[in-house]
Amino acid sequence: MGETLLTTDYFTVKKMAEGVFAAIAIPGRGAWSNAGIVDLGTELLVFDSFNTPSAARELKKQAENLTGKKVKYLVNSHYHGDHVFGNQVFEEAVIISTALTQEWFRDKNVIRDIDTEMIETQQYINQLEFQIYNEKETVVKESLENQYMEMAKLHKELPSLEMVVPTVLFEKKLVISGAERSVELYCFGGAHSPSDAFLYAPMEKVAFMGDLVTENLHLPIFHPEEFLRILLEVKTMDIEQIMPGHGDVGTMKQVDRMIEYLAMLRKAVIDALSYSVSLDDFVSNFVIPDGFRNWKGTQGIKRNLESVYNFYSLKQKEF
Ligand SMILES: [Zn+2]
Repeated sequence: MGETLLTTDYFTVKKMAEGVFAAIAIPGRGAWSNAGIVDLGTELLVFDSFNTPSAARELKKQAENLTGKKVKYLVNSHYHGDHVFGNQVFEEAVIISTALTQEWFRDKNVIRDIDTEMIETQQYINQLEFQIYNEKETVVKESLENQYMEMAKLHKELPSLEMVVPTVLFEKKLVISGAERSVELYCFGGAHSPSDAFLYAPMEKVAFMGDLVTENLHLPIFHPEEFLRILLEVKTMDIEQIMPGHGDVGTMKQVDRMIEYLAMLRKAVIDALSYSVSLDDFVSNFVIPDGFRNWKGTQGIKRNLESVYNFYSLKQKEF
C-alpha cells in the first residue's frame, strides 16, 4: 500500500495521500519505528523522530527535499526512545506531546552519565548476543537480531545524543490548522504506554497511529483493558489508511488484528484465572493460536502473557 517515492539507508518514503507521507523503517538500520510527514501548506509536520539522530537527520532532509518546505512541528506519539531519540534534530521546531508523555519523557529518558550509559548499553548488547546464540525459535531469534542491530546503532550515537523534551502539550485533542491541510492529534488514554497519541488527517482519512497499532508484533502492553477500549474508539473514526508504529502501511484491518490479539490474551487469562491456574503454568502451557504464531518479539508472546495475567490477577484481588 502507498506508492514508494524513495528509499534511504534508514527508511522508505511512501505517499499515502496528497501531502501525507509515511517513512517506513527498514529493520536494523537505526530508525526502528515509523515516522510520518504532513505538508500543511506552508510548513511541515513530522510525526515521531526515530531511534537515532542520524535517522532523524535523514528524515528531516528527505521531508524538506520532497516538499521544498521546512519542518515547523514535531509530534511525539509516546515517550519510548525508538520514537523520540531523534528529537534533537528538530530542536528548532515546536515539539508536541501529551502532558503525561512529557512527564514520562522527563522521568525515563535521562542520560545521567555518558560513560555509565555506554557501558550499560554495551552490556545489554552483549547479553543480546548471548540470547541470540542460545535461542532456538526462528521468529524470536530474528527479533533479537533486529534488537541487537538497533541497539548497536544507538550505542554508536550515544555520545552525541541529547534529550529534547516536548514543550507544547495537550491532553485529549489538538488541531493544527495549516494553509492547505489540517491535522488532528488525539489521545484516548494509555494503552501501549501511559499516554498514546495519534494523528488523524480528516480530509485524507489517514492516521499515524504510533504504537497503538503495530503489525505482527507482540508489542508491550501497558494497560490491556484500556488498550481494547481505545482501539474500539479508533474503530468509530472514518479512517481509510493507517501507518502503524512498526510495520507497513495498511488499513483499519490492522486495528482489527490488534483487537483480536488483545481479546485473545484477555480471554485466555480470564479463563486461566477462573481455574486458578498459576502464572508459571499458564505461560508454560500456553499454545499460541495459529494467526499469531509468526508475530515478532524479543520474548515472543511470553512478556504479554505475564503482563496481562498480572493485570487481571491484581484486578481480581481488588474485589
Ligand atoms: Zn513504544
